[in-house]
Amino acid sequence: MDFKTECVHGGGKTDATGAIAGAIYQTATFAHPGVGLSTGYDYARGENPTRAQLERTVAALEGGTHAIAFTSGMAAITAFFDEYKVGDHIVATDDLYGGTHRLFALLAARRGVSFTFVHDADELDGAVRENTRAIYIETPTNPMMQVIDIAKCAEVAKRNGVLLVVDNTFLTPYFQRPLELGADVVLHSATKYLGGHNDTLAGIFVTNRAEIAERVTYMMKTSGAVLSPFDSFLILRGIKTLALRMERQQENALALAEWLLTCPDVQQVFYPGLPSHPGHELIRKQASGYGAMLSMSVTSREVAERVLKKVQLIQYAESLGGVDSLITYPMLQTHADIPAEEREAKGINDRLLRFSVGIEDANDLIADLAQAFGG
Ligand SMILES: *Cc1c(COP(=O)(O)O)cnc(C)c1O
Repeated sequence: MDFKTECVHGGGKTDATGAIAGAIYQTATFAHPGVGLSTGYDYARGENPTRAQLERTVAALEGGTHAIAFTSGMAAITAFFDEYKVGDHIVATDDLYGGTHRLFALLAARRGVSFTFVHDADELDGAVRENTRAIYIETPTNPMMQVIDIAKCAEVAKRNGVLLVVDNTFLTPYFQRPLELGADVVLHSATKYLGGHNDTLAGIFVTNRAEIAERVTYMMKTSGAVLSPFDSFLILRGIKTLALRMERQQENALALAEWLLTCPDVQQVFYPGLPSHPGHELIRKQASGYGAMLSMSVTSREVAERVLKKVQLIQYAESLGGVDSLITYPMLQTHADIPAEEREAKGINDRLLRFSVGIEDANDLIADLAQAFGG
């Protein structure tokens, strides 16, 4: 099946009624046919048919054998990292989602897990130690849109016997499939592109390694942060149009990035789809698209604040990946918890704005930005 077909049919049928839209099994528990017998469903913290359909769908799209849906991206990431303890070492790229950065700080402070942050795949060899357990990356990175070489990370991971974990939220399996490039685990904030409508939170863990799936399933049952039937339905519905949305959002992002380059208030545009972006060739090699996230550095804090205040169609709000265009001020929002010095060094300063480009008409978005920039 082609990917676009799998988005619509990848989870198979939910039940025997012929329902086209999968049923929302709004039930906490399931009756047993007899002593020692089970329909395969016992209690909804363990398993629910609606959630199972979502999990089958995302596993198919990522080319994984197992997927587990959580209440949020952070719940999925936390469940995966739960087993790490004092003595364990993790290598991660340094430009991470703010919440993941916060989790890592917590694991370091409370569990004694040690971390080494690297800027790109070339620094991995020097960072991996004997007690390293995992390499954790996002690509493109958030919010600087740096492209990380997944195959190179996988090679270092395999050679050292450590896991490669990739947060694939920004590109989704429509554009990038890390498991095929050698990753062991893929994580998603399904709140973003998979759901696609800014209307619910969800997270998904995917792997093709049974023993890792077993461990994370155990955590899921223990912590109980499982995605509800209704939210599972919403994400499944979102995924049906994933291919269409990704194409349209990317097309808009390209148009906007090119327009921003001509804008006198903009100093720099960070978008891997631009041939001038340092990661342009690499992203073309490892993904089939650039996505629709871009950041821009404007000329002053005043300009940044004016744009955030004056945008009308585009909304000043945290989050990304949905049909509505959103603009974010990473310094004050998504990356506020990162120490100021560290943030500044990465370029996350008072002039950096992050833009999640939606499916609106590109000319309307450009007109909105033009009026917001225009004094
Ligand atoms: C939003 C996000 C997360 C966290 O997901 P939630 O669903 O908000 O918990 C993790 N990684 C990336 C790249 C994100 O954008």
